[in-house]
Amino acid sequence: MTTLPDLAAIEAMDAADPLRPMRDRFVLPEGVIYLDGNSLGAAAPAAFAELQKAAQQEWAQDLIRSWNKAGWFDLPTRLGDRVGRLIGAAAGQTVVCDTTSINIYKALHAAVALRPGRSTMVAEGGSFPTDLYVAEGVASTLPGAALRLEGVDAARIEDLIDDQTAVVLVNHVNYKTGELRDMAALTRRIHEAGALVVWDLCHSAGALPVDLDGAGADFAVGCTYKYLNGGPGSPAFVYAAARHHDAIRQPLSGWWGHARPFAFEQHYDAGSGIRRFLCGTQPVLSLRALEGALSLWEDVDMAALRRKSVALTDLFIMLVEARCGRYGVTLESPRDSVKRGSQVSFAHEHGYAIMQALIERGVIGDFRAPSTMRFGFTPLYTSYRDAWQAAAVLEDILRTEMWKEERFSVRAAVT
Ligand SMILES: *Cc1c(COP(=O)(O)O)cnc(C)c1O
Repeated sequence: MTTLPDLAAIEAMDAADPLRPMRDRFVLPEGVIYLDGNSLGAAAPAAFAELQKAAQQEWAQDLIRSWNKAGWFDLPTRLGDRVGRLIGAAAGQTVVCDTTSINIYKALHAAVALRPGRSTMVAEGGSFPTDLYVAEGVASTLPGAALRLEGVDAARIEDLIDDQTAVVLVNHVNYKTGELRDMAALTRRIHEAGALVVWDLCHSAGALPVDLDGAGADFAVGCTYKYLNGGPGSPAFVYAAARHHDAIRQPLSGWWGHARPFAFEQHYDAGSGIRRFLCGTQPVLSLRALEGALSLWEDVDMAALRRKSVALTDLFIMLVEARCGRYGVTLESPRDSVKRGSQVSFAHEHGYAIMQALIERGVIGDFRAPSTMRFGFTPLYTSYRDAWQAAAVLEDILRTEMWKEERFSVRAAVT
């Protein structure tokens, strides 16, 4: 049997953590172990500072002049380039706008239009549902289009890709299990079949190093309110490789994507570069808060981030299996860290009630039906002590059967 690290050993790991100072740049409530930054990232004073400046000076005092004076109009591309640095995208290929769902719609349409004569879209049956719902929506607008799903039409996504495939929509990290795909290898396979790829980076942007340009990706989307800490509902991003820009058409042809928005012309003329993915006016206050949150990444070494993420998730798996395995908790995430993102999922028949009990005890993760307890590890602010403590509380809840108390089985709207 492996001996489990004691608290002194855990504290030594925190003391030696090169990312330890980043935790002080977030507000974390007293008495809370926050393991849900993969759903809503923690708040940073740097985001509040920009938000306050945007509200009190730019909006209140400078009013309409701020579109030029404060650079509001260029926020989508300016922030896009900053996100781009975290996902391996050279400047000019990423824009921050709209929601992930809307950006999937635009990217899928654009990709299908670039592959005339091909009518199949491929996605994962186990994808985050909005990706599938949007793909169904896109298919419904294209005569003859078909949607084929991994886990439904074939076991492996690779086996669904053929000379009829126009586009493959695939998650870099699965939201439920935390499984991490090999982006370079799958992109190559898709290109060999003559198809295009849309990568969904919701659970990898800010969680681990991503290299879109290096992998030769075509399109990517992702959100900024998870590991990028932009705040609830902060706008998403969309990436398109520069080689596609001139040919891209997307269906939400609004004035912000026009070549000359302030010429107020009667007909649409797509703007140049990544700006053509824009549609209309963007949520400026949210963008300004995100700008503050993104400033935290300037000093972050992504290789160190990944090392810490792997160490945290490995530690949590070891502790939970050793302390809670006998209570019927089973690992749902890949055991091999090479194939795992920055979250750990455990299944338990009574996962919902156990998670509610955990939350009452100050350990915040979340639950995904039917039986998944998700624990997100955000290397900027999660400590090794957090992982240790969370496993200890989980053991206590299982041993005492506290989760059986009736109030933990009442379902809320958001789980
Ligand atoms: C979080 C998440 C989304 C969210 O989409 P919204 O449009 O922001 O609601 C989409 N896809 C995946 C894979 C996600 O994890």
